[in-house]
Amino acid sequence: MVMYSYINSQKDMQKDIHPQFHKKATVTCSCGNSFAVGSIKEKIEVEICGNCHPFYTGNEKVLDTAGRVERFKAKQAKATEKKATKKKM
Ligand SMILES: [Zn+2]
Repeated sequence: MVMYSYINSQKDMQKDIHPQFHKKATVTCSCGNSFAVGSIKEKIEVEICGNCHPFYTGNEKVLDTAGRVERFKAKQAKATEKKATKKKM
């Protein structure tokens, strides 16, 4: 009963305070893929989508373009170094 009244209450939304909702907004990916979603934006541009994301393609090479893993490892090495010197004192 509570659920039903909640759904019904959506009809009573205030006017002129809600953005226009596009039921078929176009999403364009940098890989060339495009598909439709519901959004308040008419056009959405994304850098990665389900068509080209490494998780779905199985290609891991795209993942670390900025060398983030290397930077993290360097940071970690520095941190463990500091810990080691602290213990000596
Ligand atoms: Zn894509």
